[in-house]
Amino acid sequence: MFGKANGVQIKTPEQIALMREAGRVVARALDTLRAAVRPGVSTLELDALAEKVIRDAGATPSFKGYHGFPGSICASVNEEVVHGIPSADRVLAEGDIISIDCGAVLAGWHGDSAITVAVGEARPEDLRMMEVCEESMWQGIAELRPGKRLGDIGHAIDRHISGNGGYGNVREYGGHGIGTEMHMEPHVLNHGRRGKGLKLVEGMCLAIEPMTTLGHHDVLQLDDGWTVVTRDGRRAAHFEHSVAITADGPIVLTARESDRDKISQMGFVQPAW
Ligand code: MG
Ligand code: MG
Repeated sequence: MFGKANGVQIKTPEQIALMREAGRVVARALDTLRAAVRPGVSTLELDALAEKVIRDAGATPSFKGYHGFPGSICASVNEEVVHGIPSADRVLAEGDIISIDCGAVLAGWHGDSAITVAVGEARPEDLRMMEVCEESMWQGIAELRPGKRLGDIGHAIDRHISGNGGYGNVREYGGHGIGTEMHMEPHVLNHGRRGKGLKLVEGMCLAIEPMTTLGHHDVLQLDDGWTVVTRDGRRAAHFEHSVAITADGPIVLTARESDRDKISQMGFVQPAW
């Protein structure tokens, strides 16, 4: 039995603590993959590593079998934005960038998070875009407070992306509610109008996930039915955290140890590392 506000699942503090446990598994998987990314590694090898970390924790990879998706991660390289299928044929090369999206369900609660990682030495223009994408996620997360509105999140994300070098802000995909399912109401646009849209309430949990591009924001889906690429072939980045809205501020449910300084700098509470 779950509470709802404006059609959105509301979690108790105890349920938020359980979601942190699920988020911690995702965090561990992404930490493992970040350390494993190097030239010569295939995206299928990364997928196997993620699945092992998730299952060793007693959790289940939530992507596997989701609408028929074959992997435990989405592995999207260079001009691939999201939903890349892990493959033995996709071997990482020096200078690539890879977006890794990972989800796990533990005791019925979901975590969902993504990072973009440079393979070996990255091009400075890619690193800069990755930084802007990640920072736009933090700016969006900062809006996750009771009384704020969905439009405030999208506005903050879009303002940061377009105001820091004019990167493309992908519009066809966005964040979402998360809890007893990976994808729940509401859809969270990465652009929006301040003060507009659904009012945020304590106990809502949202995945915030901006996608930025070096060129135009237009994307298209490949014939494999999954992989989303930029239409102009320029590179893209994707960062995501699952976050709980509380009276004390946002709790980053999928926080990794490497986020500790940033979370402290943002002034967010983080009761459970
Ligand atoms: Mg995700
Ligand atoms: Mg997501």
